Formats: sequence, C-alpha cells, structure tokens
Amino acid sequence: MVTHPIDIAEAELPDLEQALADLGRPRFHARQIFQWIYKRGVTDLALMTDLSLELRDALGRQFTISTPSVVRQERSVDGTTKLLLQLSDGKHIESVCIPENPADHPELADADRVTFCLSTQVGCAMKCAFCLTGKMGIDRNLTAGEIVGQVRVLVAGLGLLDKRFNIVLMGMGEPLHNYDATMKALRILADEHGLAVSPRRVTLSTVGVLPALERLATEPLMPNLAISLHSTTEAQRDLLVPINRKYGIEELLNACRRFPLKRRERITFEYVMLKDVNDTPEDARRLVRLLSGIRAKVNLLPLNEAAGIPFERPSDAAVNRFARILSERGVTVSVRKSRGRDIRAACGQLITESSRSAAPGRRLAMAMGT
Ligand code: SAH
Repeated sequence: MVTHPIDIAEAELPDLEQALADLGRPRFHARQIFQWIYKRGVTDLALMTDLSLELRDALGRQFTISTPSVVRQERSVDGTTKLLLQLSDGKHIESVCIPENPADHPELADADRVTFCLSTQVGCAMKCAFCLTGKMGIDRNLTAGEIVGQVRVLVAGLGLLDKRFNIVLMGMGEPLHNYDATMKALRILADEHGLAVSPRRVTLSTVGVLPALERLATEPLMPNLAISLHSTTEAQRDLLVPINRKYGIEELLNACRRFPLKRRERITFEYVMLKDVNDTPEDARRLVRLLSGIRAKVNLLPLNEAAGIPFERPSDAAVNRFARILSERGVTVSVRKSRGRDIRAACGQLITESSRSAAPGRRLAMAMGT
C-alpha cells in the first residue's frame, strides 16, 4: 500500500498533534513545527534544529509541507505587489500585497502596515457582469493550506516576517462558495503558535451566498464582513450579480440585520460604480433606504475598466455626488482608491490563464517573468 505523506500545510495544530501522536511521538513537537513554519518561515523539516536529527529524519519521510511557488512578481508604481503563484497541480492564482498609504490613516499608529488580498478559488463561479475573474469561470476550490500558503509566500517573498498585516479575502473566488476551506484557513491563521492573525484583522468579502452567510454568523472565529451589493433593485442586481436570482437583496439584507456584530463593528457594503447604470442620485437615495437599520458603512468602488467588461467608470464628479448623498443622510462612506491598476492587481482584475490553455512558449515566458 502506498501511504501518502501528510501535508502539514493543511493541518490545524490539533491535527498535527494527532498525527504526531499516531506516530508515537510527543504532541508538543507540533507547536515547534508550527513556529518554524509560520513564525520563522522555515518549511524544510531538516532545518528545524530544535527537533532531534532522528526525529527530523523520521518526519521527513512521513510529512510534506507544500507551498505555492512564485511564478512572477510585479510591482506597481504605488507599491502594490502582485504575485502569480503556481499550486502543486500546476494551476495558477494571484495574491496581492497592498501597502497602506499612511496619509489615508493618520489615526493608525502603525500606518505602515500592509494588507494581503488572498484568493479562495481558482477562478470564480459567480459571473458578476463587471468582473474579469468571473469571466474565467470556476476551475476549483483552494484548500485551506493553499489559502494560508499565500500568506506564507507573501511574508517570505516580500521580507515581512515581523510586520503586522491585515487580510482581505477579496482576490479570486467567492469565499463563501468555498466555505470549509476558508474557515479552516482562518483557524490556521489565527493559531497563536503560528501567524496569530486575529479574525479582527481579516475581512471576508462576499456576494451573499445566503446559507453560508447564515452559517458564518455562528462561527467562533468571525472575520469582518463585506457584502458586494452593487445595486439597489432586484431586477438590476439580478443582471449584475447573478446569484441575486437565488438570494435576493431583501433576503440578503435581512440576513445582515441578523448578523451578530460586536460593539462598534459594522458591515461594509461594497458598491461598484458603473457609469449611467447604478450611479444616479436615485440609486444613492435607494441605497440609504435599503441600509436603514443596519450598522453599515459603504465603500464605493469606481469600476476598474478592462477589455471585455461592458461598462464604464463614472466621472469623479458622479462618484462624489453619490458619496455626498450618502454622507448627508448619515451613512458612512468611503471611496476605494484602486491600487495596482497598472499591473492589473486592482479589484476585479485578477485573472490567470489556465495552465492547459497557455502555450508552452507562453508558459516559459511567464516562468521567466517576461
Ligand atoms: N467574490 C467576493 C470576493 C471578491 S472581492 C466578492 O465578490 O465580494 C472583489 C471586490 O471587487 C468585489 O466587491 C467585486 O465586486 C469588486 N469588483 C469586481 N470587479 C470589479 C471591477 N472591475 N472594478 C471594481 N471593483 C470590482
């Protein structure tokens, strides 16, 4: 019988403790291994020098630690870095590191922190009308280890081992369409012996897969919630965000009303602004009415235009007019500055060629970073 090595990247700490116990080894080594991997960025068991040589050798035969490999790294003029990563089956995803602009956050003492934007799927099944990732369709879910692996690669690749960071699940994919792996990833990320990322530093963005959203409301580790609303009428949202045909605005907002929020927490509503489609004063007033009774803030995302996306970005004047209507009526609103547009790292711009369709020459060119 062929026994497959256990992939430590997929393990929560108790799983690793159990795996060690199953081999007749003390459980406490699991904590040491977690510290090596997540606190020091060491993924070669042979280098974990506080384990005996004999143990390292034995574990090397039973365990692997799979890590996405960096195919290409691109840096935007604004400091945003996008990584093209290859997974163990050859599929590609993108992950983005966005430096906070200290000028945007004068209130934060550590305004030099960065935000990692992670993917949760290869492609996406949601087919939102303005999103490039949606054009790819869905290839497969990421595993928990692949979601966490993006953080490990970003931290190691960009030399950020001692830096605090925020995480947004706003890369490729719909996190609530890959619920179990996403939640498991949050648990691995939160482990105090590992990266110790508190769920308060994580924001999960979703189109509103309702059963999964209801389930999220019961999780012990609950991230901040962002809802991709984008529209104020059922008929229009049906077209822009097709899952609305299944779970409409009304149901979605009722679920938001029931969503347990801690003191001072709010739900973010993302609203992609499309010129002459959803950017009128009437839209703004309808949005205010829809959000009444919800502890909400609104994040306006002026469309990042791309070839193949049949919408236009509204003028700054239209965006500001929309924002003013919200704020005059007491709704907190911000306009998302799009980051990394020059390297196609901005919202809705993450897309990878499937390794199947990329011609060998093109693949080689990608591998060489051209
Ligand atoms: N599937 C999740 C996670 C993706 S988050 C979700 O939809 O919430 C990415 C955010 O960028 C979403 O709010 C998405 O609607 C938005 N977005 C997609 N395409 C965009 C584009 N072309 N311009 C600006 N924002 C876009």
